[in-house]
Amino acid sequence: MLDSNVFINNLSYLFNDVLVVTTPFIEEELKSLPSKMDFYRASSMNLHIMLPKREYFEKVKKLSDKTKHKLTNADISIIALSLEFKEKNKNVVLVSDDYSVQDLASRLSIDVLSLTKPKIKEHYEWKRICIACNRETSSDICEICGLRTVYIRKRNE
Ligand SMILES: [Zn+2]
Repeated sequence: MLDSNVFINNLSYLFNDVLVVTTPFIEEELKSLPSKMDFYRASSMNLHIMLPKREYFEKVKKLSDKTKHKLTNADISIIALSLEFKEKNKNVVLVSDDYSVQDLASRLSIDVLSLTKPKIKEHYEWKRICIACNRETSSDICEICGLRTVYIRKRNE
């Protein structure tokens, strides 16, 4: 599940080998030409654009009102679609660098992955992994694959 930051940083290529999903609202959030180009490149490959069911959107919206997270419709849509996948027992990882998105998704027990240093490090434990070989590492670049590593929230903290 890809949030807008992935396209803004032109990093959708990192997810070439997995099924990736985003919502139409995320496309609307992309303003710069390079971010749009990255979105269209991914769309032509393995990126699927879907809308969450209304009930999931309402559920996430209600929770964000309660926890006073400042979320856009795009933010809510991406968390709602992640929740919908999760409740259908699909493995889902939400990729977002947005603190509020990371935090709310974590409260719903959705696995979160961050491309930059996570801001909610105080509340959750993170590890750095290579998305190609899954090896845990402390470096920016995987020593085996030479690919950029990402942050992932540890389960059962
Ligand atoms: Zn690797």
